[in-house]
Amino acid sequence: MRYLLALLLVLPATAWAQKNQVNEINRLVTRNEVEAHLQFLAADEMRGRNTGSAEQLIAANYLASEFQRLGIKKPQALQSYFQPVSLLNSYPATSGKLVIDGETFLYKDYFVQMEGDNITWEGDVVFAGYAAEEDLQGRDVKNKLVVALAGKKDSDGNPMAVFMASGEKRSRVQAAGAAGLVELFALPQIPWPALVNYFASNVSMTLDEGAGNGVHLWLRQPDTNIIARLKEKGTLPGSLVIEGGRKQPVRAHNVIGVLEGTDEKLKNEYLIVSAHYDHVGVSRRGNQADSIYNGARDNAIGVTGLLATARYLSVFRPKRSVLFIAFTAEEKGLLGSRFYAEHPVVPLKQCIFNFNCDGAGYNNTTMATVIGMERTTAESYLAKACAAFGLTAAVDPVPDQNLFERSDNLHFAVKGIPAITFAPGLTAFDTEINKYYHQPADEVATLDFDYLIKYFRAYVYANVLLANAPAAPVWKAGDKFEEAAKKLYGR
Ligand SMILES: [Zn+2]
Repeated sequence: MRYLLALLLVLPATAWAQKNQVNEINRLVTRNEVEAHLQFLAADEMRGRNTGSAEQLIAANYLASEFQRLGIKKPQALQSYFQPVSLLNSYPATSGKLVIDGETFLYKDYFVQMEGDNITWEGDVVFAGYAAEEDLQGRDVKNKLVVALAGKKDSDGNPMAVFMASGEKRSRVQAAGAAGLVELFALPQIPWPALVNYFASNVSMTLDEGAGNGVHLWLRQPDTNIIARLKEKGTLPGSLVIEGGRKQPVRAHNVIGVLEGTDEKLKNEYLIVSAHYDHVGVSRRGNQADSIYNGARDNAIGVTGLLATARYLSVFRPKRSVLFIAFTAEEKGLLGSRFYAEHPVVPLKQCIFNFNCDGAGYNNTTMATVIGMERTTAESYLAKACAAFGLTAAVDPVPDQNLFERSDNLHFAVKGIPAITFAPGLTAFDTEINKYYHQPADEVATLDFDYLIKYFRAYVYANVLLANAPAAPVWKAGDKFEEAAKKLYGR
């Protein structure tokens, strides 16, 4: 009898609580509130929030003030809401010369520098296949220059995969103590002059990982048989000189706030709500009518989602603790999140989920696109949160674009934390998307607020559900990042 009575009381209570949550989200997450955040962050005066710019610091202050106003605390591990991120602007080399067995290859004509300092080196040049684990195993490459094929053994050679493999190779070769890595450029889709223009004329931003990084070059296929000779002999004498490159520190911060959970036990677990607040600044081509990349969609929308969540949860405190992180330097290669994952303010193993908010824009206003939707057990919460506001939660429509690994959730996923990205409704990278994606036209005046208010409320609700869920979501069995999760959480 008591059991039945309890059941009768519980059922309507749960339904009431849900209805109540939705009503309260409607009350607290208003069009005025979200529009105000967007108007401020994407204003022309913010000059595209480029990483390292004065305007980006203004955006950072705006976020910190907002956290303070809401009673969201600074992390204990930091002096303030700001986590300084060590970044460098790298100005490309002005000249260079690579010699292999008496044959000379000049900078820009034959090679570009992807990473590393100026160098004057002489020693052994060795060939190491794809510079994969097995290619380097048991080989002494210390202080040698390692020449390797681009990409991976069985890959189809698509540029994205080649670039991804490139970074892994560089780390591997560096860890083995080599003087540097020379990759044989093999992307017919990219003409050599375009590559030179990109890597030898532009300032690039990197994390400051201390001195002693080896050089990383891409070498155009020589016209001679030198590579065949190197493959045959394994080792040839060589030298390398690179001059004129310089590096300059950049002032930038992740902005981080913490909200303590209300449940004695669950408050030791953290939900990470994140969004990048940088964009790409102002065009250096002076001939455009509008040169400011406002980044309303990319990613003032994401930041607004984060702030709306902070607002709601500061009033209706969740059981779990929540870490709000606004990342810098996403547009420079996910650098702020990469830095954070190496310098977390709360141990990563206490962080149960990352729900990142970022996107290219939208071309379907009946849905939200959840990149990684089907990969974790959070799926049902996401569907429910979207449905509550009349949206469907859709999976990644363009897996070939590898969007999952092109947003800040990636660096948490790599560490094992289930980490996915909430994005506005995207069905394809079509003309509607490209009209705004990384264009000066990405302005607040072009936004559909009737849609966006639903989008923001759905994001807030999803975070409410995740922060209060009885069990923490996990990667589905067989996921690429499941192993890392086992290692991180020890289960
Ligand atoms: Zn972007």
